[in-house]
Amino acid sequence: MPETLIGSSVLERFLRYVTVDTQSAEGSKTYPSTLKQLVLLDQLANELRALGLTDVTRDEHGLVFATIPATTKKSNVPVIGFIAHVDTSPEASGTNVKPIVHRGWRGDDIRLPDDPTSVLRVAEQPALKAQAGNDIVTSSGATLLGADDKAGVAEIMAAAEQLLKHPEIPHGTIRIGFTPDEEVGGGTTHFDIQRFGAAYAYTLDGTTRGTMDTETFSADAMIVTFQGFNTHPGFAKGRMINSIKIAADFISRLPKGELSPETTEDREGFVHPYVMNASVDRTSVRFIVRDFATEGLKKKEALLERLAHETIAGWPGATVSFEVEESYRNLKDVLLKHPQIIEHGREAYRRAELELREASIRGGTDGSRLTAMGLPTPNIFAGGHNFHSRLEWVSVQDMEKAVEVIVHLARVWEERA
Ligand SMILES: [Zn+2]
Repeated sequence: MPETLIGSSVLERFLRYVTVDTQSAEGSKTYPSTLKQLVLLDQLANELRALGLTDVTRDEHGLVFATIPATTKKSNVPVIGFIAHVDTSPEASGTNVKPIVHRGWRGDDIRLPDDPTSVLRVAEQPALKAQAGNDIVTSSGATLLGADDKAGVAEIMAAAEQLLKHPEIPHGTIRIGFTPDEEVGGGTTHFDIQRFGAAYAYTLDGTTRGTMDTETFSADAMIVTFQGFNTHPGFAKGRMINSIKIAADFISRLPKGELSPETTEDREGFVHPYVMNASVDRTSVRFIVRDFATEGLKKKEALLERLAHETIAGWPGATVSFEVEESYRNLKDVLLKHPQIIEHGREAYRRAELELREASIRGGTDGSRLTAMGLPTPNIFAGGHNFHSRLEWVSVQDMEKAVEVIVHLARVWEERA
């Protein structure tokens, strides 16, 4: 690897990582869901080795783990971890990303050159308004940017480089983890928390500067399958039962003014149909179900079952079946048992001249699952906005703050041990 690629700023790293297409895919038979993610994972493993981290591994599933050796004389400093995901969302193209740095952005609308409809309007982007004077990175408008979560990857890499360059900063052993497939709910499928070896961890996958996500949705996936009956359409009278029409009937019965992503905010949950596999014989509708309270999930699933049964009552001969799978659970309950994770975070933010704002994320992160698996992991801001969209953006100054927070966290955990 050329020497110049090793020691570089968080921005240079970020611009390098976003040009690698790492889009993950729903319903893939492979792990990672797309093999192209391995290109960036391998590149990161090489960069980590070149920076001088130890125990750098890229396992058969693609996960990259590495160690920043301790510099402290204390023997009781807990091992802490920093984690980010390399994949980008299947919801927007990640092929041929052309990042643009709008240096010293002056506060006017940002038109993205590759698509006339891609305009970041300040009036519609309150978080952008606060960034006047900063350096804003966007895509060219044809793709997403990939700040989710390559901002987090770049921040962890830049912080690792700083800690290695400054052995006079006392800190305990620090573990780093880069994962594939977070966007398709598989980021932790093969994450071995024993082998990772941290007592506590932080994902860098949040949004606005100063926030820490200490609460997430509880989440299930639910598949509602309607079974009809197919026969030759020329001879179908009285025999054919078209499951596509049944599914349409069912969808039309979903609540319209509530319980959907487009009608809820803050602490409200929802049911969200997002993929259909349709044929006359059999049609399945995939839902995600979300609520901050786990009992709330059960209520929403019961509602879907009731609506589906009411639907097929009008279609003699049709049947319906349901599958529910747990996706992740609200991490707040576990974090309350380990208050130092957030307290040390608060101190690290303070030293970076930020006030920590605890946030409830209307989604989940790798941290939600890791917490459930026994590695308590809240989510630190990485600075990106408009995730999964061609209007995604991040400011360089916010990425730099996240790097500072990581370095301060390493220090604070050592001091307070
Ligand atoms: Zn993410």
